[in-house]
Amino acid sequence: MDTIQLAAGFTPLPQRIRRLLELAYNLWWSWHPEACALFQKIDADLWEEIYHNPVKFLREVRQSDLDAAAQDGEFLRAYHAVLADFDAYQVFDKTWFHRQFPDEKSKQIAYFSAEFGLHESLPIYSGGLGILSGDHTKEASDLGVPLVGVGFLYPQGYFKQVITADGSQEAIYQKVRFTEVPALPAYDAKGKEVVVAVGLPGRTVYAKVWRIQVGNVSLYLMDTDIHPNAPADRELSARLYGGDQEMRLAQEMVLGIGGVRALRKLGHLPTIYHMNEGHSAFLVLERIREYVAAGKSFEEATDLVRKTSVFTTHTPVPAGHDAFPFPMMEKFFDGFWDSMNISKDEFLEMARHDQSWGPTFSMTVLGMRFSNKRNGVSKLHGEVSRQMWHWLWPEGSIQDTPISYVTNGIHTESWLAPEMKAIFDRLLGKDWVLHIDDTAMWDALDQLSDAELWDVRNRLRAKMLNFVRMRTRARLARLGADKSQLDATYQLLNNNALTIGFARRFATYKRATILFTDTERLKRIIHTAGRPVQFVFAGKAHPRDEPGKNFIREVYHRSFEAGLAGHIIFVEDYDINVARYLVSGVDVWLNTPRRPHEASGTSGQKAGLNGIPNLSISDGWWPEAYNGKNGWVIGTDEESDDHRDANYLYELLENEVVPRFYDRNDVGIPEGWTAMMREAIRTVAPQFSMTRMLKDYSTELYVPLLKEMK
Ligand SMILES: *Cc1c(COP(=O)(O)O)cnc(C)c1O
Repeated sequence: MDTIQLAAGFTPLPQRIRRLLELAYNLWWSWHPEACALFQKIDADLWEEIYHNPVKFLREVRQSDLDAAAQDGEFLRAYHAVLADFDAYQVFDKTWFHRQFPDEKSKQIAYFSAEFGLHESLPIYSGGLGILSGDHTKEASDLGVPLVGVGFLYPQGYFKQVITADGSQEAIYQKVRFTEVPALPAYDAKGKEVVVAVGLPGRTVYAKVWRIQVGNVSLYLMDTDIHPNAPADRELSARLYGGDQEMRLAQEMVLGIGGVRALRKLGHLPTIYHMNEGHSAFLVLERIREYVAAGKSFEEATDLVRKTSVFTTHTPVPAGHDAFPFPMMEKFFDGFWDSMNISKDEFLEMARHDQSWGPTFSMTVLGMRFSNKRNGVSKLHGEVSRQMWHWLWPEGSIQDTPISYVTNGIHTESWLAPEMKAIFDRLLGKDWVLHIDDTAMWDALDQLSDAELWDVRNRLRAKMLNFVRMRTRARLARLGADKSQLDATYQLLNNNALTIGFARRFATYKRATILFTDTERLKRIIHTAGRPVQFVFAGKAHPRDEPGKNFIREVYHRSFEAGLAGHIIFVEDYDINVARYLVSGVDVWLNTPRRPHEASGTSGQKAGLNGIPNLSISDGWWPEAYNGKNGWVIGTDEESDDHRDANYLYELLENEVVPRFYDRNDVGIPEGWTAMMREAIRTVAPQFSMTRMLKDYSTELYVPLLKEMK
């Protein structure tokens, strides 16, 4: 506590509420609505203004408001209740992992990822991979899995999306002030700030290590924007996925090699190293180098590394795997092979992947070859991965390719709307969050009445639409709209219309514009008398993905087209906050990837948890979840065809989705719809939870390796 005050340079808070600072510096608050509410109670407007960032909040809040809170009996009661929960949470004995695996609990698993999506106030994530890492970290804390995370604290993070007046995406990079995020410098045993060094061609680059606390899990995040790095090197960790291929190679060297060095300086000797996607796979090389330096042969070293590594692949598209041309590798790793006791050629062969344009050093090959366990992120993606990487194990059949799968899941408390949580608290019992993956528990949903489910649906839709209107107003104000134009936003969209959501990265394989294949047919669907339909879109395209940006432009222009206007809207700057509104506020979650390009997808799981049926191509996680009663499958399992899939989508909308939503009983409730909502929750909440996922990772991947090592 005092260390936070000292390190972060805060003036003391009033004594009675001084632990707010401790809360602000532990992301535990972010998945506990009662903890968020404390900040909100002190100054609700400021809380919105600083975008739900408690550290910034405590820097900017008026002293008089803090003093008032410290005198307010009701506030103090809430404060003490939250801190009692917070303290109880930090006792490990009762956690799942400690009870289940008492002999393994003091070992450690290092989890490396290029991005961590923890909260909207910490923009160090771009999409699904980051959200998964963030949820993985939170759940490890909940379950007592002895994890330590390693990644980057990007000073400019991922971009903020702005849509110009003509519908173009503009990427804005805002400097994140580290004094305004819950990061503290990491210290070594002697109390010195940890800085690591990594050799790059002709120079050494340094990275400072920061610590972010996620419940009971520490994340160590590196930043190269420090003295004495040259300007270009200070930029190395500036942005997520920025720069050219050399920059990316340097970045990945800092992540994999610097990350291991950071752990050592902090005194950590994890038993297992989990590479979440290939970006961090250079950690394999650093670990081999360490063992060789300690006197092992190269073979002994690789054997030890292989026994203790786990690799997760997320990319069903060959071009999505990082690979560096041999000459570039020779330049950047010049001499590194000597320290591994092998020749340059042996070094390059470690991860050779021949491409049409020449031999490359593939991060996925490196990660896969030097791991003991490898997995894809859904059943289908496991199959695709076995086909894709069969050539690494050519002696066996495709089915024998040693890549398994663990289907992704979501951190329930991070994605559940508070309105739904209130229902679950009552229906499932107070401790239900300890049993999320228990499918039988969710049978209690049968007791949830149609009336209550329909009521919460209407409230959440209205809340989301208000947010969408506010965002639209803010954008128009920025573009210089006049008062009448701003006032018109209050009338945008219809609180009672069937609302379909499509929010995801605007990568072209996700086919955001497939809905507009036959606009006349679409217009008939959305304008049927008494049965209006509306669509809410959101998503960022990679700044260099021109076709993706064109998709955004098209959706934007469609939202003004006669016959569609008023029924289509694009919401700016998709992030965790926008996602939380949409995955609980829309009525249907639409997903139209070109099969099998969606490795898993998790946004549909967030929707299902909140009682929102999925309307999706049979791709990623959805074939495992779909049971005929919890949503719809668009098309068949055949290879995707845009026109055919569009036709299937229209047919489903016309014949299934719209009629079911508008088929009301005597008291105005669509019983068929509420039944489907209940079924969506019952099937998605337990099975596609991060609780289930992390238990699978633990029992299938981590623990078998932990048990092998003393
Ligand atoms: C959940 C989430 C994602 C990943 O969802 P997909 O289904 O893979 O598109 C991406 N971005 C944000 C902000 C999310 O919340």
